[in-house]
Amino acid sequence: MTNLTPLVHGLFATDKVSGEIVGLRASRCHTCSDVSFPYSIRCPNCASTVEPGEILLSRSGTVFEFTTVYSPAPGFVPPYTVGYVDLDEGIRVYSQFEAAEGKPLHEGDVVHFALKEIPFLSETRLGYVFKT
Ligand SMILES: [Zn+2]
Repeated sequence: MTNLTPLVHGLFATDKVSGEIVGLRASRCHTCSDVSFPYSIRCPNCASTVEPGEILLSRSGTVFEFTTVYSPAPGFVPPYTVGYVDLDEGIRVYSQFEAAEGKPLHEGDVVHFALKEIPFLSETRLGYVFKT
């Protein structure tokens, strides 16, 4: 699966030795310490253009809020659930969610990062999901 093109260039952090994807890649501003996801060369908080540091976001977080989509969208089979997950770095990340079979998702649930094949136009790309 990891040989697929990422949904967005630079979306994932990789192990410097093996090249394997280890999680989501973000930037930390050297001027104001703001964390941005996805990685951004320009700080959205203070507009600094000093090259930011690269950080690996936490692979677990808590569900802030979510909604279940019942309308079909190209490449997605409804129903599917999307929303925001709060991570230890103090940021909120938009994600698709997958709950364990028979256990509905709740705000505050602990969820874990996983790679996921995502339909993108006429191809399949590599995205992510947070699972219970
Ligand atoms: Zn900044």
